[in-house]
Amino acid sequence: MRGLMQDWPLLCHKILDHAALHHGGREVVSRSVEGPIHRTTYSAIHSRARRVAKKLHANNFGIGQRGATLAWNTWRHMEVWYGLMGAGGVYHTLNPRLFPEQLAWIVNDAADRMLFVDLTFLPLVEKLRDQLKSVQRIVVLTDAAHMPDTPLDAEPYEEWLAADDDFAWCAVDENAAAGMCYTSGTTGNPKGVVYSHRSNVLHALAGNMPDMLGLASRDRLMPVVPMFHANCWALAYVAPLVGASLVMPGSKLDGASIYELLDQEQVTITAAVPTIWMMLLQHLQETGHELPHLERVVIGGAACPRSMIEIFESRYDVSVLHAWGMTEMSPIGTICTLKPELVDLMGDARLDVQEKQGHAPFTVEMRVTDDDGNELPRDGKTFGRLKVRGPAIARAYFGNEAEVLDEDGYFDTGDVAHIDAHGYMRVTDRSKDVIKSGGEWISSIELENLAMGHPGVAEAAVIGVHHMKWDERPLLIVVPKSEDAPTRETLLDYMRPQVAKWWVPDDVVFVDEIPHTATGKIQKTALREMFRDYRLPDG
Ligand code: AMP
Repeated sequence: MRGLMQDWPLLCHKILDHAALHHGGREVVSRSVEGPIHRTTYSAIHSRARRVAKKLHANNFGIGQRGATLAWNTWRHMEVWYGLMGAGGVYHTLNPRLFPEQLAWIVNDAADRMLFVDLTFLPLVEKLRDQLKSVQRIVVLTDAAHMPDTPLDAEPYEEWLAADDDFAWCAVDENAAAGMCYTSGTTGNPKGVVYSHRSNVLHALAGNMPDMLGLASRDRLMPVVPMFHANCWALAYVAPLVGASLVMPGSKLDGASIYELLDQEQVTITAAVPTIWMMLLQHLQETGHELPHLERVVIGGAACPRSMIEIFESRYDVSVLHAWGMTEMSPIGTICTLKPELVDLMGDARLDVQEKQGHAPFTVEMRVTDDDGNELPRDGKTFGRLKVRGPAIARAYFGNEAEVLDEDGYFDTGDVAHIDAHGYMRVTDRSKDVIKSGGEWISSIELENLAMGHPGVAEAAVIGVHHMKWDERPLLIVVPKSEDAPTRETLLDYMRPQVAKWWVPDDVVFVDEIPHTATGKIQKTALREMFRDYRLPDG
């Protein structure tokens, strides 16, 4: 017997319909790429997204075709996302921080037909144009007044838009592709992750449940995480889904600019990788500014240092939501909110929980296994391969339908983790980064977090370097703060009482800068290359 409910497909653009109808007047504020602050509403974005879709249709942009964006977070980028999906197409966010050759490779791999580009990235596109074989039309996200001279055959967005919004969204299946994002891939070519309408809608609903992001219409959300990073952590869906106001930071992501928007636009919740928050906290420390409006900060994409959680919560009275996920998971996997049995914890015991990456929402099944696929106990200490299963988790990559799942249908995240009896997961490493010392594993992330707790450390990374006896031993690489810079000995003395003796790094090197990937993570491959021939004191 089948259920007798309506066949109402889960389509992403229905989220914008809902926002326009029920929260139409809610503000979307952006720092425009041209400079000034721009204000609009969901109702206006809905109308202009239909103008995008209408024009795409007139340009013979067909169902399932890809439209790439090379753009910052602004209202125009939102309109293009929803317009592309409403026209039956697929948005493909390009990460401008990738190497130009990699970008060209990705555009050709995805066979992008259209390219929507911000003024900032126009010179990059001019340089790459000859290599972008599939791109038939380039639209610059600006108006005629700001359109620069360019050898490209490109039109300004405001002139390109259809004159009216008389357009009915295309009817597509809920399992049709809606969006694409390539994984940053530290080795080999990047791989295309393809989201469906259904997966995006389910993911936004699940990721926003009360013990997860928990956004409401009263919130003012600033996604500092770029729309090109892992599907914008679902935020471009969650905000219109609940009718929360949006504050889009455009191209300026430095501490002062972020603070200015948090303050002037009275942002209540914001989200980004730890590097962004390091810059903000430094700015606050230098200026003495406070964060009176901000209630919650989502920190993910890389492990959030314990000291960062402590400063946000104790010094600025802002709750930290530590989050873990990956492009292949749409991306939310876990969020660290405190369940009732833990909510009364104080001090170090509370931070011990908050430092974990958190628990999974309904729709994310998560387990840890050994190398043979046997499930390991949920005891908060036995770590192994972290595997996930669910409706918004990739089963294959673009261009190769072969499934990348284990025999139980789980996707191996490539992370090493443990899960405790309350369901809280803790990433101890990437499987590629874990340090293997005398057959035992040492967590590079745990050592990094520990070093970051020293007041004189601006950033820390730990890699395994070759050791004659132990195979690998940890090397701590530190960017010192200009004031209070620690020495090798003061740093190791600080760490010694806090970790097992054999985990203490064998050496410390001080550097001016630690290399980062295009999505703001520490680039361990580059560090391993830099320190390939490093000789440890007794190595
Ligand atoms: P990406 O697909 O580029 O977003 O990268 C996903 C990977 O980032 C994950 O598999 C983790 O290795 C890492 N990651 C994301 N969030 C966290 C976190 N909160 N703590 C530790 N690692 C994280």
